[in-house]
Amino acid sequence: MNETSVKSAAHLYPVYIGENLRHQTDHYLSKSYSSVLIITDETVASHYLSDVQESVSQETVYVHVIPAGEKAKSVDTFYQLHTKAIEYGLDRQSLIIALGGGVVGDVAGFVAATFMRGIDFIQMPTTILAHDSSVGGKVAINHEQGKNLIGSFYAPVAVIYDVGTLHTLPDNEIRSGYAELLKEALLADGDLYQSLIMKDLSSLSNKDLADKLLKGIEIKAGIVGIDERESGIRQHLNLGHTLGHALESLLGYGYRTHGELVALGLLFAFRVSEKTFSSQLPYEQLYTWLKSNGYPFKLPFVEPARILSKMKKDKKTLRTTIQMVLLKDIAKPALVEISDEDLLNYLHDFQKE
Ligand code: NAD
Ligand code: MG
Repeated sequence: MNETSVKSAAHLYPVYIGENLRHQTDHYLSKSYSSVLIITDETVASHYLSDVQESVSQETVYVHVIPAGEKAKSVDTFYQLHTKAIEYGLDRQSLIIALGGGVVGDVAGFVAATFMRGIDFIQMPTTILAHDSSVGGKVAINHEQGKNLIGSFYAPVAVIYDVGTLHTLPDNEIRSGYAELLKEALLADGDLYQSLIMKDLSSLSNKDLADKLLKGIEIKAGIVGIDERESGIRQHLNLGHTLGHALESLLGYGYRTHGELVALGLLFAFRVSEKTFSSQLPYEQLYTWLKSNGYPFKLPFVEPARILSKMKKDKKTLRTTIQMVLLKDIAKPALVEISDEDLLNYLHDFQKE
């Protein structure tokens, strides 16, 4: 087991990462609680809920299972969870455990942030992507007008990450989370980046994954420790997301996973970086690795002008000109304004590759 910690405005919280941690949940609780509510989704429940339930010895343990998938990050689920928390008699000394991927973490975390003005919660991530979503203190649900529009900053009291849960993930979810790991490495650690693309995804061991995820978490923790509220360098975590988000929304959520499209966004950011800074980035190497690991290269054609207008609607875009995170080199990110004309040309060329 490895351990690191994350600084938030509210407190410092530990991240435990290793195998079989789900069998020892109690061991990682820093105090006793009046009651515990485990929130998980149907799929995760079928694999891991009983392990976690058995490992919590607090007297009163409740469980609520939500549907799997993004649609559960809704006002309805949020309201139902509050209703359950009230019916079960949770109080301010209760704990919520979010067992699952980013969806469970986000909605359960937002319930914890708001129930009785905030109670303790623990993140128990079960996806690779959730190494990203469980750290950094953002919790949210979706509004029908857009993703993550209702939420807050609310840090967990601990993250307990059992990498022994990851082998049951479908391949597209492995690709999704791994792309965020590639992103973190590109922002801060060239050696980690090279080690990430040395092997194919299918040959990664749990030990490999635990080591790499820990490093990814440390990179994210380093960034959010300085800029929790995203007024400065936290924006670097959007590397690959300018194109990734636009494609996700234009192709329809769920067409491909978030991270699979972010991976294409990373390649695009390489190209734009090369044009902007004459950076020497290993484009071909990344392209080949992504291709051989099943990332999506045969997407329906989308007009560059539609992509550009979608990029401009992204809620994180404050200006009329697009700001992109680029790389002067690996581990040297920079936020740069790109003119519409340049961006259209780059998108046009990129779609031909
Ligand atoms: P997810 O939670 O929907 O999980 C993906 C799928 O995998 C689901 O069907 C789930 O049931 C299944 N699953 C989970 N663990 C499994 C396991 N061990 N074995 C088999 N199946 C398993 O999605 P995700 O990709 O983990 O997270 C995406 C969400 O995270 C999005 O809503 C996104 O907005 C959010 N997010 C939040 C932050 C943040 O900072 N809060 C950051 C990034 C993403
Ligand atoms: Mg992302």
